[in-house]
Parts: sequence; structure tokens; C-alpha cells
Amino acid sequence: MYLYEMHVHTCIASRCGRLTPSQIVETYHSQGFSGICITEHFFNGNCSVDRSLPWKEKVEQYCSAYEQVKKEGDKVGLDVFFGFEYSVSSQSKNTMSGTDFSIYGLDKEWLLSKDESILDLSVNDFMKMVREEGGFVVQAHPFRLELSYMDHISLFPLYTDGVEVLNAARNTMGRANNLAKKYAKEYNFYRLAGTDFHQNCDREYFAVLKTKNKVSSIAELICEIKTRTTKVAFKKNKFYKR
Ligand SMILES: [Zn+2]
Ligand SMILES: [Zn+2]
Repeated sequence: MYLYEMHVHTCIASRCGRLTPSQIVETYHSQGFSGICITEHFFNGNCSVDRSLPWKEKVEQYCSAYEQVKKEGDKVGLDVFFGFEYSVSSQSKNTMSGTDFSIYGLDKEWLLSKDESILDLSVNDFMKMVREEGGFVVQAHPFRLELSYMDHISLFPLYTDGVEVLNAARNTMGRANNLAKKYAKEYNFYRLAGTDFHQNCDREYFAVLKTKNKVSSIAELICEIKTRTTKVAFKKNKFYKR
């Protein structure tokens, strides 16, 4: 089977990302992946793009992270696809939300066709629009509860397509992934895996999506996922340091 990473951050547009495009490509290429999706924190998340810039410039800067990784990937034959990680901001005061959605299947042109107002939509209205316009909505690590930045769990099943049932954050074998599997099963959501990669030493395992066929675009990858023949699995990260 072919190995795909669905959830990666770079040091360009994610404030918490530590790796450059060439380091990311080296990491995944050397460990046998066929492709990766760059999912930088969007403007409502931990994004490092200056939010006061005009929309078009913001989108250009945001997408340049993906573009630079893609350029590096092309040199070695690692496919690089675009996605973005949309964050739910706290609705009420004194609440810390950590709810995130990985959106796939849309591109820079789509973002450029929008404006600042999409950030004012309710979460469900945003996801409804994304789906109507060809996007694929995946709730990332739905049952993560890291007290440093969140104090509750929230789910938005109405417009969700898939769930990251395997995330490689610290408690890999724990409750968060177990609950995500149950949630996906109950709603018959598509099952995805994503490492949520930020730096080389912070994840002992990659959370990998395995496909029967090699794909050449994010649209093809989504089609593979929709056949429900893809698998999720952990894979040891050789760069991990305790
Ligand atoms: Zn991050
Ligand atoms: Zn992430």
C-alpha cells in the first residue's frame, strides 16, 4: 500500500511549526511516504501570517508554505497536496476551544475568491459552504483534551465528512483515538489518520493513511478515501527523540 500523511505544519505559516519545506520533504521522503498534505493553521488558528494584511496578501503568504514544500517535493518525487486547518474560536468568554477541522479539496483560487467575511460564519455555515463548493471536511483529533490550551471537547457532526481516528499526539494509544474511532463508526464517517507534525522529534509515530492506489492529486486521494479501502496505521518515526 502507499503511505500518505494528511496533517503537517511548517515553520512558514504555522506559529508552532518548526520545520522548513526541505526538512519536511526529507523527513517524509526518507521514510517511504508517497505524499503529504500541508495543513497550516488557518487565520482563525495559530497562524503566523499577519492578520492585518489585506485578504489577498494574507492568502498569498499563507499558501506560499504549501507552494514551497511542493517545490521541494517535486525535486524528489514526493507528492505535496494542499489543505488547511480551520479552528473553532471560543464562542463564550473564559472558554478555551481546541476544535480543529482539516479541509481538503479546495485551493488557493478558492481562498482568493473569498474574503474576510468567511471567518465570521458560524462553524456549521462555514463547513456547509466548504462542502457545497467541493471541499472535504475532516475533524482533526476530535477528542483531544490538552489542558494547556483547551478545556472542553466539541463535535460538529452535521457537516463532517471524515474524522481523524488516528492522531499521533502524545497519548497515541489512549482515549482520544479510541473515542474518535467510536464516533466515526457511529456516524459512518470516513476514517483518516494524521500525525499533526510540527517538528522532527515530537512524534514517536506517524499516523499514516494507506491507500491501495497511488494518487496524483488531492481529489484522487479523497476519491480513494471514499472507496473505504484506505487503512490507518502508526509508523515509527526514526527521528523521534524522547
Ligand atoms: Zn500547531
Ligand atoms: Zn494541526
